Amino acid sequence: MSYSIGIDVGGTKVLGGVVDIEGKVLAHARRETPRQGGAALVAAIADVADELMTKFAIDSIGISAAGLVSSDRKTMLASPNIAGWNGMDLEHELSELIGLSVVIENDANAAAWGEAKFGAGRNEEHLMLLTIGTGIGGGLVINRNLYRGAFGVAAEFGHIRVVPDGHLCGCGARGCFEQYASGNALLRHAREAINASPEVARNLLSLGDGTVEGMTGQHITDAARLGDGVALAAFNTTAQWLGAGIASLTMTLDPHCVIIGGGVIEAGEILLAPTRLAVERYMPFAGRHPSPKIIAAELGNEAGLVGVADLARGKYS
Ligand SMILES: [Zn+2]
Repeated sequence: MSYSIGIDVGGTKVLGGVVDIEGKVLAHARRETPRQGGAALVAAIADVADELMTKFAIDSIGISAAGLVSSDRKTMLASPNIAGWNGMDLEHELSELIGLSVVIENDANAAAWGEAKFGAGRNEEHLMLLTIGTGIGGGLVINRNLYRGAFGVAAEFGHIRVVPDGHLCGCGARGCFEQYASGNALLRHAREAINASPEVARNLLSLGDGTVEGMTGQHITDAARLGDGVALAAFNTTAQWLGAGIASLTMTLDPHCVIIGGGVIEAGEILLAPTRLAVERYMPFAGRHPSPKIIAAELGNEAGLVGVADLARGKYS
């Protein structure tokens, strides 16, 4: 049996798993993500790998992390959310500590591959994944191959400009898709509605500490499940942006399906149903243009580690 380790580097935790060729996770290890990033985070990743390597004979190791990764899958070209990682040859740093070469992959690419091979996209030939959390990550699988582009940085759907001179984005540009259709955008849409008429938000705010600042995406999801109007409107506004973006991407990429993952998909149909309607509403050639299926991811927060473990094995199909 061939065992590969996948390690997903998240904002709060570094989660590793031993993955078999069928995508099953046989063992886990985790560490808190050191806030200072840099070498401390590299050491935490190596720790996770070491712990798993004592239990299984490992052939390959893949690391899934947010940011732009070079086409040779070694260097973090840009990593706005991790301190001290811009330009780091992460493969070199990690292989020195672990004693085995590693493969670095963009987190959404890894998740897209996980879903394509073992999850919601396993029967689809052409698919794209949008991971909707703090921002929007993108991954693209064409002809059952992960599409990485000329320089390794393809499918950054979250940074398509949708509003001229709109909200400032973490990437440095303005008006990016993720500023309007991500989990953070969901919060912004709810805050704007509450600031406009605070009295309507009593139910929603009562789920947290009573303040707009203390409101989280989870509160909005919980309130929407209870039928709260403010929460449902925030989801609907997010879905309008998301659907419009998916319609545009469909005109370029023509996928069989669009898989929605990330923390916000916990809301399920509360997000998906208005998103499907918005895709139809904003689709050019409406009524004549075929639409992709819009479906939920299946692997949850393990998609990245399962996908990158498989990519590290070197099997792309
Ligand atoms: Zn951006």
